[in-house]
Amino acid sequence: MAQVIDGKAISTQIKEELKEKVAKLKAEGKEISLAVIQVGRDPASSVYVNNKKKACEFIGIRSLAYELEETVSEKELVELIQQLNEKEDVHGILVQLPLPKHIEEDKIIKTISPAKDVDGFHPQSVGALCIGQKGFVSCTPAGIIQLLKRSGIEIAGKECVIIGRSNIVGKPMGILMLRENATVTIAHSKTQNLKEVCKRADILIVAVGKPKMITSEYVKEGAVVIDVGIHRNENNKLCGDVDYEEVFPHCSAITPVPGGVGPMTIAMLMNNCVESAQ
Ligand code: NDP
Repeated sequence: MAQVIDGKAISTQIKEELKEKVAKLKAEGKEISLAVIQVGRDPASSVYVNNKKKACEFIGIRSLAYELEETVSEKELVELIQQLNEKEDVHGILVQLPLPKHIEEDKIIKTISPAKDVDGFHPQSVGALCIGQKGFVSCTPAGIIQLLKRSGIEIAGKECVIIGRSNIVGKPMGILMLRENATVTIAHSKTQNLKEVCKRADILIVAVGKPKMITSEYVKEGAVVIDVGIHRNENNKLCGDVDYEEVFPHCSAITPVPGGVGPMTIAMLMNNCVESAQ
């Protein structure tokens, strides 16, 4: 019977640990603040922003909300970030993506000081990750490493296949798994014989963005399957990139959706905020 990797429980454990660290810092007179900038009123973004605020409250981090109109200019947003970069009592800056079309995301990401880049998206953070130097790591891949380690799953020497090569999930995931001494393959939409490639994996990490695409035909018997995808199905229920019920009997461990990778992303964001203050 496959082990269900409980992201909710593991993320709660991490947040409890962070709560203690934050309380200690507070006792030393240091309060941690995260600036959260949202442009417009996209409902999905509002849900993410609210969840981040709730996590801050739970841990004892002060969240500073900046809710900007959809029509705000790129220049105004850049100026706000520059001001926050200068503020000593702001430890992390987060700009909720996606941004409206008239604002260049790359430019905004580059404006955030790498010292406050708690999302880990700044080119300097990504570069540091690539060459094994200290810097903030993108939260979803960092959360997956914690899921694996805290579930007692060995990574070193294992064949790991990642489906997806996005800048926020697939690529940093590949580098982190390499850092943990896995043998890594990153697959994408141009990969040939995807099923055969995936069948090599001891650890299969799926960030393809296609609901229930991954069936048992892609999974080696006894593999560990990590599902990053998040979608609403025709009944408005959440589902992942993996066909969970169909794959479950064939793997040794699997993350559910919801309650797998999702909660870890916010826990690692909180972790980055605490590290930034430390
Ligand atoms: P992107 O759309 O940026 O990337 C998808 C990747 O999948 C691309 O590299 C693409 O290849 C590849 N791909 C698409 N179709 C195929 C195919 N048929 N065969 C093989 N590869 C394919 O997505 P993200 O990385 O941003 O996100 C992936 C999923 O994870 C989404 O469902 C997203 O909602 C979810 N997500 C969940 C998070 C969480 O906290 N749980 C956080 C972030 C994302 P190519 O590069 O060639 O186009």
